Formats: sequence, C-alpha cells, structure tokens
Amino acid sequence: MKVLENVSLKPYNTFGIDCTARYFAIIESRSDLRKIYAEPEFLKLPKLILGGGSNILLCSDFEGLVIKIDLKGIEGLTDGSVKVQAGENWHDFVLWSLKNGYNGIENLSLIPGNVGTAPMQNIGAYGVELKDVFLDLEAFHIESEEVHVFSNSQCEFGYRESIFKHSRRGEYIILSVRFNLANTGNVDVRYGAITAVLESKSIVNPTPKQVSDAVISIRESKLPDPKKIGNAGSFFKNPVILKSDFIKLQEQYKDIPSYPINDVEVKVPAGWLIEKSGWKGKVIDNYGVHKNQALVLVNYGGANGNDIYQLAKKIQESVKSSFDIHLHMEVNIIK
Ligand SMILES: Cc1cc2nc3c(=O)[nH]c(=O)nc-3n(C[C@H](O)[C@H](O)[C@H](O)COP(=O)(O)OP(=O)(O)OC[C@H]3O[C@@H](n4cnc5c(N)ncnc54)[C@H](O)[C@@H]3O)c2cc1C
Repeated sequence: MKVLENVSLKPYNTFGIDCTARYFAIIESRSDLRKIYAEPEFLKLPKLILGGGSNILLCSDFEGLVIKIDLKGIEGLTDGSVKVQAGENWHDFVLWSLKNGYNGIENLSLIPGNVGTAPMQNIGAYGVELKDVFLDLEAFHIESEEVHVFSNSQCEFGYRESIFKHSRRGEYIILSVRFNLANTGNVDVRYGAITAVLESKSIVNPTPKQVSDAVISIRESKLPDPKKIGNAGSFFKNPVILKSDFIKLQEQYKDIPSYPINDVEVKVPAGWLIEKSGWKGKVIDNYGVHKNQALVLVNYGGANGNDIYQLAKKIQESVKSSFDIHLHMEVNIIK
C-alpha cells in the first residue's frame, strides 16, 4: 500500500471539485486498513473515507488522510446469498447480478458509487431500496479495530438513512455487503416511467435485464451525466411533512404535488419546491441549479465547493421562507 502526498481529488468526486488531499491511501485489503490506522504519522489526522465520490461536496483542501476503499470481489455463497466487497462499483454489480441469473436490483441500475457506500444512505430509485435485498454487512470498527456484523434491522434503514449517518457516524468503515437476491425473474414495474418505456418497445412480460435497460435509458435522458457536468445527483432529500400542513399549503398552491407516506404524512418533491422558489436553471459564474432538474446542483467547470454549499444554504432559506419547509441536504458536505 502506497500513501501519496498532495493528491488532487478532482478525478475522485463526481462534482469535479479540484481540492487537494494532504495524504491519500488506496486500501485494497483489510490488512492495508489495519496498517494505515496503526501508522503513528496519521493517528491524529482527520480522515475521509472515500468510495466513488458521488455523494460528497468538497468545500476545501483536505488537510488529512483520504482513505479510498478499493476492496474487490463478488461471490455467490452456498446459502444462495451474494457477498460483495465494498470497493466494487454498484452498477457493475447490478450488471453482474443480471448476467448470473439474479434479480431484485435492476431498478437500481446506473446509480453511481460503490457497493460499500450503498447502505450509508439506503440507496433507492424507481420504487426499490437497498434495504429490500440487504441481508447484512461487515464493518471495521475504527476504535477497536474489530470487524462487526450489522443485520438489516440493526442498520435502521429509512428514506436515504441508516445508522451510519447518525448514531454510528464516523465510527465504522463498511467492508462488505451480503444480499438476498431472487432468481425468480419477477420484476417491479410499478413506476409509470418504466412502464412507458416498456410499452414504447411493445414489451409485455419484461425480463429483469429489460427493466434494467429501461431504467438506464430513463436515467440517461433525465439526469446530467457527471462526466459532462459535475454533480452529485439529488442535492436535497424530498421532505416529509404532516398532511395537515400539506392541506394548508394546498390552499395557496393548488398544483403542489405529493406522495402518500402514511395516514398522517406526505412526501413533497424537493425539486418542485426549489423550482417554485425561483432557482431552477439559475447560473452563478461557473455553478448553479440544473436547467431541467432543480434538485441537482451543478459545477459547470472549475467551481469552488464552498460556493456550491453557500448556494445550497440560500436555496434552503428560500424554501423555508416560502413554504415553511426545511430541506435536508442528501449530499455529504466535507468542510
Ligand atoms: C448522477 C447521480 C445520480 C444519483 N442517483 C441516485 C439515486 O437514484 N439514488 C440514490 O440513492 N443515490 C443516488 N445518487 C447518490 C450516490 O450515487 C449514492 O449516494 C452512492 O451510494 C454514493 O456512493 P459513493 O461510493 O460514490 O459514495 P462517496 O461519495 O464516496 O461517499 C459518501 C459518504 O459515505 C462515506 N463512505 C464511503 N464509503 C464508505 C465505506 N466503505 N464505509 C463507511 N463510509 C463510507 C463517505 O465518507 C461519505 O461521507 C446519485 C449520484 C449521482 C452523481
């Protein structure tokens, strides 16, 4: 394992922010991880665990050690589960699952990032979430250097949430994830956009691969490609509010959309709130709000992460003053 110095992080974050890491280590094995944590030189330095860099906003140079997780391997176990090492690319794993006769994660095709990061915010798209197929994970406990196993319920998954973002924040490094994938060929096409693509191709009984292809084509047509325009996907979470508050908002905004959560709560699309607050398509120097997706903040090239963070805070203030709703940032802010 090599530790590099003064490394540009531009290729390592999908926002394309050009910050520098004082130290940068690529971890290819569990013993690499133990060695790096035992190294006296790095003991007191701040550390940033890095996967695919698709859910972070770097606000300044990182005066510590960046630990890039590059553990590899996908293994079908005899009990039928599939064990994947944290550094595998998520979408490559989806393609692997389809090729090997599994299904269950085709709706999560083309989500950027690593398998080991997927449980952090319980990734989700088109009606499916990681928790639906998640069995357990192994995680390195930084303080004790022990490996602990977390079951589905112990991860306390919620909408873009897990224990690793809250009470256990910063305590663990996820090493591997075990999945319970089906091999039934049954697919989930409840989402209108998927049905529309399949219908346009006259597909009546879609295979998991056909659903994956449909999801890929929808995502490619809707979301800005980070290789062309720097971004981290949805910058904010869709807020969940009380139905009673929603009814009051509806009196003023007749067209406000919502999705039912339960008897007392509804989810409101954050993109709609941001658009109504006048931010959609706003360009400030070399960064702004995407012209088609108000939920996506973008770096048009050479932007400063802190400027994007300040923009995000202004958007939060606008939405709060217009709708009395607080938008939570989904992206991890690295200061
Ligand atoms: C174009 C685009 C579309 C997206 N669409 C979706 C979507 O549909 N649904 C969705 O849920 N998300 C979506 N995302 C967000 C992102 O893809 C996911 O959050 C993904 O899981 C992030 O993985 P990563 O490896 O890139 O994480 P990183 O950005 O590298 O890290 C994210 C956080 O996790 C921590 N971390 C990373 N690896 C580990 C580890 N092994 N152990 C402990 N902590 C770790 C980091 O320190 C950081 O705080 C999208 C992003 C983009 C750019």
